[in-house]
Amino acid sequence: MEPRDPHPVTGVPFPSPVPPGDGWPGDPASADTPVAGTAAQVRRLAASAGSVADLQARVSVCRACPRLVRWREDVARTGRRASFADQPYWGRPGPSFGDPDAGVLLVGLAPAANGTNRTGRMFTGDSSGDFLYAALHRTGFAALPTSEAAGDGQALTDLRIVAAVRCAPPANKPTADEKARCAPWLERDLELAVPRLRAVLCLGSIGWDAALSAARSLGWEVPRPKPRFGHGAEVPLGLPDGRTVRLVGSYHVSPHNTFTRRLTPQMLDDVLVGLRR
Ligand code: SF4
Repeated sequence: MEPRDPHPVTGVPFPSPVPPGDGWPGDPASADTPVAGTAAQVRRLAASAGSVADLQARVSVCRACPRLVRWREDVARTGRRASFADQPYWGRPGPSFGDPDAGVLLVGLAPAANGTNRTGRMFTGDSSGDFLYAALHRTGFAALPTSEAAGDGQALTDLRIVAAVRCAPPANKPTADEKARCAPWLERDLELAVPRLRAVLCLGSIGWDAALSAARSLGWEVPRPKPRFGHGAEVPLGLPDGRTVRLVGSYHVSPHNTFTRRLTPQMLDDVLVGLRR
């Protein structure tokens, strides 16, 4: 029998990686959720997902990038950080987290090996998440100032978190091919958000580029030449129905930026408050 460790909130034991539908808090998938194993299957399953819940489930079991599947599962089984060695690791792609009817979509880069890859929830369980959720709470988007583990009661209002790449990459660096394979999930996330969408907040230039590329693929009007990423940068994206969505940039909440104070809490709060307009 596979070794099992107790979930930090519920105490229920899970193997690592966590099988879909096994009872992990917030697991959007079941044992029957269709699994994408190739780039073509990602495109097909993303395009046919009929709701945010459906899309989250399909994303969370995707196996289309062999290098990333190997890495995320190796970390979950044998590469855990010492301080989390007694916890189960999610070891699957990070599904989107937040309000399915959000007006704001936040686009990050990719899960962290000991953060989302451990907890199964975007930006949860690492210092990047500590910084982000504190700001989301101060500005009224998050119910709690912290996000430590799935099942802790955290909930978002009017904002949903997605990522350019949904699996933890070695050294936080997905390849160009992996970014391209994962892009259809983001495109469908944007498409499903359209009815209420007013802004896309991109953390870092990779999220910015991924959002622009998804917008172009969906036939949205994107300014030319390609808008440059910067903290506080903002450009309008034209939707096919004539409405406009704001594309907004912020420096990423990575320790590299926050520990050096390239990104301060006030800078992120200012951007988030601006999204309320
Ligand atoms: S990175 Fe994206 S496309 Fe690749 S396996 Fe993970 S979820 Fe699937």
